[in-house]
Amino acid sequence: MTSKILLASGNAKKLAELRRVVEAAGITGLEVLGLADVEPYPEPVEDGATFEDNALIKARVAAQKSGLPSLADDSGLTVDALNGMPGVLSARWSGGKGDQANNDLLLAQLSDVPDSRRGAAFVSVCALVLPDGGETVVRGEWRGTVVREERGANGFGYDPLFIPADDVAQGRSSAELAAEEKDALSHRGKALAQLVPALRALAQ
Ligand code: IMP
Repeated sequence: MTSKILLASGNAKKLAELRRVVEAAGITGLEVLGLADVEPYPEPVEDGATFEDNALIKARVAAQKSGLPSLADDSGLTVDALNGMPGVLSARWSGGKGDQANNDLLLAQLSDVPDSRRGAAFVSVCALVLPDGGETVVRGEWRGTVVREERGANGFGYDPLFIPADDVAQGRSSAELAAEEKDALSHRGKALAQLVPALRALAQ
């Protein structure tokens, strides 16, 4: 029998990344559903103070509404020179005007910050909540720097502004990486790698 898991994300590009990483782990016998595959329910307000709080808010509601094991990611960019902001407010940093406005605002805020102090990290917290109430929460981080102009057209969100520290020799932004390259390095890839044993257990 094939087990099912719900990936509770309304962000199509993030959902695609989550789906890819789960599938690349080679887990068989686990059907990966998105929100479009289940009875619609109102998405909860993400009003937690931390990535952990918000990931759990999303995964708990998904498990409760769908009756399925549910996985949610809460993620964002934490910028050193902004004391860790935008952080949990990353998606709404420009007041809900979208990715381009978020990137423009971030660039303006950092315009006087020298190259030596433009460090940042993407953070992803993934929560797996089972219908019986079991909960697993994992975190992945990806260090890098924020550049002064956008580069690349892959990925989403702040990707065009982020140069990963572990690709620094080539100096590409995360929007210039191929999907599989990003998955192998990224915060979301690192968080999900820690969930693979729990996902395998679900598939049995
Ligand atoms: P969430 O959907 O509430 O978790 O918000 C995530 C937000 O963080 C996104 O809208 C992006 O602004 C940002 N973000 C998270 N992960 C990434 C990534 O991999 N690349 C670029 N931006 C990201």
